Amino acid sequence: MSKVMLIVIDGLGLEAARRHLGVMEGLVEAGEARLWTMRAVLPSLSRPAYESILTGLPPARHGITSNWMVRRSSQTSIFTVARAHGRGTGAAAYSWFAELANGVPFDPVADREQDHADAPIQHGRYYVLDPFPDPELYWQADLLVRRHAPDLMLVHPMGCDYAGHEHGGESLAYRRAAALTDDCLAQLVPGWRAAGYRIIVTADHGMSADGRHGGTDAEERLVPFYLLDAPQGGVAAEEADQLSVAPTVLTLMGLPPAPTMTAPPLGSEASMTADAPEA
Ligand SMILES: [Zn+2]
Repeated sequence: MSKVMLIVIDGLGLEAARRHLGVMEGLVEAGEARLWTMRAVLPSLSRPAYESILTGLPPARHGITSNWMVRRSSQTSIFTVARAHGRGTGAAAYSWFAELANGVPFDPVADREQDHADAPIQHGRYYVLDPFPDPELYWQADLLVRRHAPDLMLVHPMGCDYAGHEHGGESLAYRRAAALTDDCLAQLVPGWRAAGYRIIVTADHGMSADGRHGGTDAEERLVPFYLLDAPQGGVAAEEADQLSVAPTVLTLMGLPPAPTMTAPPLGSEASMTADAPEA
């Protein structure tokens, strides 16, 4: 009966993570975490990928194929499964997650703090503007953890995506945003691990050099998937599918994935395979 913290770093591509997340890479090197190369869904856009991360379905199936399709999810998600089993849920995230999970319209004042026992996300703290500072977001998440200790907690900072759109995926600003992410994780992850969380750090999509994503290029589509305290550390040789995120979260929580979540869960003893050869 583990608790799970799902940290989705918006717009953090695989290469940026491997180059600039020294703390996370150090955990991999020390055998404390396992890293998979993860292939994001198509289109490699935020709202479609959020829905896929939550439901394990590709956009072609769940139907949210544009950032401007603003509606509540009609699918079974990690939050609805968790609630159906009486587990507590929380999120510190962009308002689009509140729209998908808990419904529309999202009022930027009334809905920025949501505490609803019956909602898929019971305790939510949401921001609306993309330049919301990442450290503030992590502190909001930590406050929810201290107050409510949700069994499933979503943490979703926007700093990398914002810097990438403003300055490009090879810019100094983007590299700084990735490094700030790493420092935020360094400060908060030890306490969350000590509080009993299994921690996943991944991304919705990457970022091209010209500040875009949505297509099939590796910079836009390949993202990291770090699992702390996996049965086996190091770097996995095989590539993982983003549709595995939802069944992985539920399996780690000791809950059955929904029948619609058909991708294999990552990080269970049975799923461990070969390490990548040394580069
Ligand atoms: Zn973006």
